Amino acid sequence: MTDGNTDIAIAIPALLEATLFAADKHRGQKRKDAQKTPYINHPIYVVNLLAGVGGITDVELLQAGMLHDTVEDTDATPEEIETLFGYAVRSLVMEVTDDKSLEKQERTRIQIEKAPGLSPRAKLIKLADKTANLTDMIASPPAHWPLERRQQYVVWSDKVIAGCRGHNTRLEEIYDARAMEARARLT
Ligand code: ZN
Repeated sequence: MTDGNTDIAIAIPALLEATLFAADKHRGQKRKDAQKTPYINHPIYVVNLLAGVGGITDVELLQAGMLHDTVEDTDATPEEIETLFGYAVRSLVMEVTDDKSLEKQERTRIQIEKAPGLSPRAKLIKLADKTANLTDMIASPPAHWPLERRQQYVVWSDKVIAGCRGHNTRLEEIYDARAMEARARLT
């Protein structure tokens, strides 16, 4: 499409549609911080990083960023996402969805193992997701996480992100800055 306005006329409602869906699905869920921030702030922040920092205008990628935790953490199904947002968005969401039937420790190991094989678009969602999580951890740590657990989180996050590099320098830079800040604060 050559007309920039037409692009925006499609992109904005498409992204807001995904935002409404995510807000509805995450209704009542809170982040782990002491302030009990509404969960929906997290995917909104992820999309803000992708678009605002990463300069990404790929609407499917931004929609998938908004929906990235819906299958893992709500009753949303892959089929529902495909019906509403198409197959490409569904498969991106599924690439970054953990298998909840596995033990937590196994899931974290698999994230490290799977990262290098993700599609470039899924890697960008991972980068923004981990950046958002580190940002939250610095600003308002999970209420019940002791220092050691926070340190382990940063180490693990770095290992996942090691497999997600090479597709967006600005997103990598902000991830690295947040990881450095987190490490400095957790000593
Ligand atoms: Zn997330």
